[in-house]
This record gives sequence, structure tokens and C-alpha cells, in this order.
Amino acid sequence: MVLKPASELNIKNILEKLNTFNSDPKNGTTRILFTKPEIEARNYIKEEMKKNGLTIREDSIGNIFGTLKGNNPDLSPIWTGSHIDTVINAGMFDGMTGVVAGIEAARLIKEAGVQHKRNIEVIVYTSEEPTRFGLGCLGSRAMAGCLSLEQAKELKDEEGKSLTEVLESLGYNLSEFHKIPVKKGEVFAAVELHVEQGGVLEALGLPIGIVKTISAPTNFEVSVKGKQSHAGSTPMNLRHDAFLVCSEIALELEKLAKESDSEDTVATVGQVNVLPNASNVISGEVHFSIDIRDSNYEIKCKLVKELMEFVKELEKKREVIIEMKQINDDVPTHSDDKIVKILEEACNEKNIYYHKMVSGAFHDSMMVGRFAPIAMIFVPSKDGISHSPDEWSDYDDIAKGTDILADALLKLSNS
Ligand SMILES: [Zn+2]
Repeated sequence: MVLKPASELNIKNILEKLNTFNSDPKNGTTRILFTKPEIEARNYIKEEMKKNGLTIREDSIGNIFGTLKGNNPDLSPIWTGSHIDTVINAGMFDGMTGVVAGIEAARLIKEAGVQHKRNIEVIVYTSEEPTRFGLGCLGSRAMAGCLSLEQAKELKDEEGKSLTEVLESLGYNLSEFHKIPVKKGEVFAAVELHVEQGGVLEALGLPIGIVKTISAPTNFEVSVKGKQSHAGSTPMNLRHDAFLVCSEIALELEKLAKESDSEDTVATVGQVNVLPNASNVISGEVHFSIDIRDSNYEIKCKLVKELMEFVKELEKKREVIIEMKQINDDVPTHSDDKIVKILEEACNEKNIYYHKMVSGAFHDSMMVGRFAPIAMIFVPSKDGISHSPDEWSDYDDIAKGTDILADALLKLSNS
């Protein structure tokens, strides 16, 4: 192949520098959307993009596009990229690895001086993590036409500031918000490199995963109103214990997920807020989260329907009020066969062994897949750990993934 191998050192340097933009450096990496470190990281990445010959533009939700011009810029472009925001006390690889690999791949293509027809665009998608506004994939969601200006106004952070207020205060032009959605056909192909965030590749001893399907989440915020009363003087048969309602729902959810016809079904109650949360008081109110994911949308819908029926019965049985607020109901994204084939060819040419797999975590590609053919490259995560300061991926694996990415981008840009 005409391209030189990716530089592990370049990748390491950019990732380490990026990691200095961090609200809580003692506890891993914290970089939340539009906080000072996140804005500084954006500026740093834009500088790196410019240094590598990319031209920069930004849309009005802050998605950053670094473009490597092709010979025929009128053709629809090839996209790559990921995100640079994190959850609280995360690691330095989730998201950032895909952005850095994209920049490195663009550098390799540019420095090789090879002809490529289509523009290659490295993208930083705004806020893949739901950390600040409670909803993930903000940038790519807006691109997919699934986040309107009105909805953005409704999204509030912990301080009550809306996404639109924050965007406006940073100088983003909200009158251009309607220009964010991307129509089908406007992007020729999109390939995202990401750390696996699970232990499959490590267990197999393989450096590369090629994603067949991205599982998609359905999320609920649930509120249970029972009756708060004394833990000593209220007999068992007179109780309306909100916590037990939450417990029953959590156990039913586990059962439904385990009995599901899809082997990729997972369901989690990850956040529970019990009121008044006192040892001698029967809880009167519980607020909790439900997160259901699957690679098969129909099976996921069936599970949600069964859960709803269970909840209805439970409400009657325990004489409580249960409110289920659905936050999102996303559709799994399947990778494009042609792009997957190109990735497989690139691996075979380099004698790199790979594994075709499902992504249990969602990524920006899930939303991008609504308007463009997508595929993803995974590199192994040490011990399968992610969203933790212990998150780690080896630089030589990332470099291998970057080589595959660069080959694929070049091939796609000439097709
Ligand atoms: Zn990520």
C-alpha cells in the first residue's frame, strides 16, 4: 500500500496533550461539554487539524469538521471522527482515540501525496456523552434531524441552563440551526474508530474489531409515588413501599432481558434515588433510570411492551402511582456491507486478524447511520474497562486501527 504506517508517537502525543484539558486530573479524565477544558480541547484539536492541512468549519451545535480536500470536492465526502467529551472521571481513550486516529489517517494520506477524489472530513461530534444535558449524541443527533431547535431549548443542565442558551453564549448562530441536518446521499460513507469498551477483543487476543451492528438504547426516567410512613408502626399489609416497586421492576427487567430472543439484550437500573432515604422510614417516593439496549429493534420493542404491562399490573397490585417517562427510543444501526468489506480487505492485506462483532455501547455512528452508510473499527480495551480512570488501549493497537482506517478512507474517497 502507498501509505506509511501510522505513528504511535503522534497518536500518543496528541492523546496525552488532549488529556491535559481536564476538570479533575487527579481522578482520570473529566471533560464535559462546553466547560473550559472542553472548549480548550476543541481549540487544540482545531489547531492539530490545521497543522495537518485540514480546513476547519463548525456548525451551529459545535460539530467540528476538518476537511482534507480531494481532487473532486463536488463529490459527496467521506467522514471519520468521534467525540472529545467524557463522562465524569472517565479515561483518556473513549472518543478521543477516534478523533486522533482520524487526524493521523488524514496526515498519512496527505503526506503520501496520493490522489483522492472525495474530500475526507475528520469530525468532532458535539457531546456524545449525555453528561451535561442528559441526552447522548447531541451533535450527531441534530445531524440526523432528531434534535430540533425547540428540543434543544428544552434540554437543561443541572444549573437550569438550556443547551440553546449555552450555545448562544459561546457565539454559535442559532438561526443556522436548521442547516445542521444532513440529507441522505450527502455523505458517501462514514467510518468511526473507537475503543471497544468491552473485553471481547482482549479475550480473543485480536487487535481489531469490525462492527456489524450498533445496539441502540431505550431510556426511561421512572417515578414511583407510594406512601411514606413509619418503619416500626406500619404493618406489612398496609404499606405502599415505593422502593419495593422499584425493586420489582428492576428484577422483572433482568428477567425479561435474560429471557429475550436476542443474545444482545441488556437492561439496567443504574440510578436510584430513594426518598426520604432514611433507615426507619418506608420510602414514599423513588426516582430511577431504566436503560435497555439491543441490536434487534423489534425484540427491544417487545420487551418494552412487556415491561409496560408488568408496570400497569404492579401499579394496581401495590396501589402506587408509577410514571414512566421515555427519554429516547433509538433504532440499532447496521454497518454497510461494502464498507465492512473494505475494512476486511485492509486487514487481510496487512495480515491483521480481526473479529466481526456487535457494539453494545452506542456511538455517534448510530445517528450518522440514519443518513449515511457507516462502519466502525474497534481497538481492544484493557480488561474491558471504560468510563473509568483505568480505561486503557495500547498505542500499537490504536496505530494498527489507524492504518486500517487510513486505507479504508483512501479507498472510499476514490470510489
Ligand atoms: Zn465514545
